[in-house]
Amino acid sequence: MKPGRAATFGKSAAQFLVGCVRQTVTVKPHAEPDRGLLEAVKQWQQVFEHNPVMYFMVDPAGTVINVNTFGAAQLGYTAAELIGRSVLDVFFEEDRDFVRACVALCLETVDQSHTWEIRKVRKDGSVLWVRENAKTMLRADGGPIVLVACENITERKEAENALRQSEAYLAQAQELSHTGSFGWRAATGEITWSKETYRIFQCDEGTKPQIPVMLQRIHPEDRLAVQRTTGRAAREGRDYDHEYRLLMADGSIKYVRAVARAMRDSGGRVEFVGSVTDITATKEAERRLRDSEQRFRDYAETASDWFWETGPDHRVTLVSQHSDTITVPAGLIGLTRWDIAPDADLEPEKWRQHRAALDAHIPFRDLVYRSKDRNGTPIYVRTSGKPFFDADGNFLGYRGVCTDVTAAIRADQAEDALRKAQAELAHVTRVTTLGELTASIAHEINQPLAAVIANADACLAWLQRSPPDLKAARRSVEWIIEDGKRASDVIRHVRALAKRTEIEMAPLDASLVIREAVALVQREMASHAVSVRLELSPALPKIYGDRIQLQQVLINLIMNGIEAMDGVHDRPRELTIRSADDGESAILVSVADCGVGISEQAIDRLFTPFFTTKSAGMGMGLSICRSIIETHRGRLSAAPNQSGGATFHITLPLHREEAP
Ligand code: ADP
Repeated sequence: MKPGRAATFGKSAAQFLVGCVRQTVTVKPHAEPDRGLLEAVKQWQQVFEHNPVMYFMVDPAGTVINVNTFGAAQLGYTAAELIGRSVLDVFFEEDRDFVRACVALCLETVDQSHTWEIRKVRKDGSVLWVRENAKTMLRADGGPIVLVACENITERKEAENALRQSEAYLAQAQELSHTGSFGWRAATGEITWSKETYRIFQCDEGTKPQIPVMLQRIHPEDRLAVQRTTGRAAREGRDYDHEYRLLMADGSIKYVRAVARAMRDSGGRVEFVGSVTDITATKEAERRLRDSEQRFRDYAETASDWFWETGPDHRVTLVSQHSDTITVPAGLIGLTRWDIAPDADLEPEKWRQHRAALDAHIPFRDLVYRSKDRNGTPIYVRTSGKPFFDADGNFLGYRGVCTDVTAAIRADQAEDALRKAQAELAHVTRVTTLGELTASIAHEINQPLAAVIANADACLAWLQRSPPDLKAARRSVEWIIEDGKRASDVIRHVRALAKRTEIEMAPLDASLVIREAVALVQREMASHAVSVRLELSPALPKIYGDRIQLQQVLINLIMNGIEAMDGVHDRPRELTIRSADDGESAILVSVADCGVGISEQAIDRLFTPFFTTKSAGMGMGLSICRSIIETHRGRLSAAPNQSGGATFHITLPLHREEAP
C-alpha cells in the first residue's frame, strides 16, 4: 500500500470544492452575498454532502476540518462527531504510521494526487476497505489542506481475499492429493501448469511448459502411446484419461494418471482442462497387493491343504481351487461341517463342543472328523478356523484350513495295532518261557514248602516234649511263616508274568528288577551248572518302566546265556549281570556269558524276528526284547566278548523327575 500518484479520480470535484470553501470563507458576514453565488454554493454543498464518495479535509496536524455526510455515515459517525478529531482515529493503530507518511507526502507535494488502499475502522469497530485519493491544496490564506476522496472497495477486497484463500486451498489440496492441474490449447500448443504439476514433472516453476520437454520426461516406452492418445483427443475434441510413466532425472519411475476435459474456445478451437495425479504410491500398493495375493495363491495351490470360508450360518461359501482335486471333497458349498461328517451322530459330544465354539465366535483348532474324497473314499480331515467380522464388528463367518490327515491317522491306528500285537506276543512268549521254567518255578515253590513241612514237623516235636519247648516251637512257626511268604511271593510273581498284558509304567530300581528276575531262573541255572555273578550298583537312580516287561527281557537274556554255555566244558559256566549308572542320564545293564559267542555276520541279524540257530528255537525272543526296550526309550545291543562269549547291553533312560 504505497501512496502513488492518481491521474483523474475526484480531481475536478475536489478542486471545485476547495474553490467553494474559499468562496464561503471569503464572503464577508455583513456584505450582501451574491444570490447566484449563494445558490451555487448551496447546490455544491448538497453535492458535497451526499455524493457517494467520502470526502475528508484534514489540516497539516491531521485534524479533520470537514467531512461530508456520506463520508461520516459510511464510518457510522455524524459529521459533527468527526470534525475536530484526529483523522488517525478512524484507522487501525498499526496502520497509523502509514497514514502519517501519506499525509506527509501529500503535504510535501502540493497539488499532486496520491492514491493508496487502506482499512478504516467504523465507529462500531467493523472494517471498511477504501481506496484513497489525496492531494494537498493551498487555501486562500496560503495554509495547506489535505483533501481526501475515498472509495469503498470492501467488496472487491473481500472477493480478492476469498480468491487468494481459495487459490491457497486449491494449491494445498493439489499438494496433498498429489494432483496437479493443467490447461492445453491444442491449436497453439500453449500449456499452463499448476504448481503441483510442476512438482510432479519435477520441472522448474520458472520454465514455460512445452510439449517436447514434457515428452522428454515421459518414459520412452510410454511416449508413443501418450502422443497417440492426446493427438486423437485433440483432433476429435474428445476427453481423455490415461496412465503413463515418467522417467525422473535420478532414474526413478513415477506413475501418473492424466484426465482431461475437452472444451472449445470462442473461436471453436479445442482446448483441454485437466488434472494429473501422481499414482506411484497407489501403483506400488497395488503391486504389493498383487504380489501377496499371488504368493498366497501359489501357497494355496501347491499346499496339500485347502482353504474354506463359511457364512454366518456356518454353511460353506468357498473352497479354495486346488491342484489336488481328488482330496478336496466336492459339493461342499451350502453344507455345514456336521452335514458333511458321517461321524457327527457317533461322536455327539465332540460336535456339541464344536458348535458351541462356533456360536461363541471363537477360533477352533485341530478338529478331526471323517469325510469323503471326490471318489467317495473315506478320509480323515483336520481343520482349524477363526471367525471374521466386518468393519462394524458384525460376524461374517469363519475362515480356515483343512488338511487330509488320513495317512497320519491310519499310521497311528497301525502303530496301535502293532503295539497290541507286540504286547500279545510278549505275553505269549512270556507264558512259553514260564512253561520252560516250570521246573525252576516248582523248585522255587517246593523249596519253601519243604522247609514249611520240616519246620512244622520240628514244631510238633518241640510241642510233644515234656515240658513242651515253647520257645523253640515258636521259632519254628516263625520260620514257617517266612517260608510261606516266600512261596506265595513266587506264586504272585509268576501269576503276574503269566497274566498281565497291560503295560504299567512306574519308577523302578533296576537292581531290584534284576534280583527278582534272577530268583525265578535260579533253579534253571543250577541245573545247567551255571553260576551267576551279580555286580549290582547300590542306590541307583530310578528308571521308568514296566517291571514285568523288563524282567521278561532279563529272563530272556539269562536263558539265552545259559543255552549259549551248554557246550562249555573246559571252563566254569559263569553269567555276570551288572547294573551301573552312566553318570549322566541312563542306567546300563549288561548280561555277559562265556558261551559260544556271536559271529560278526550274526550280530546284525540277532534281533530280526525268527532268526534262530537252535533246532527248537523260535527266533522271537531278542526281537521282542529289543521292541520292549525301545518302548522304554532305551537301546538293546549285543557284542562278542574278547575272551569268548557274548554280552548284551541294555541302556535305559533315568526317570525324568529324578534326572539331574
Ligand atoms: P531263540 O532263542 O528262540 O533262537 P532269540 O531271538 O532269543 O531266539 O535268539 C536268536 C538267536 O540269537 C539265537 O538262536 C542265537 O543264535 C543267538 N543268540 C542269542 N543269545 C545268544 C548268546 N548269549 N550267545 C550267542 N548267541 C546268542
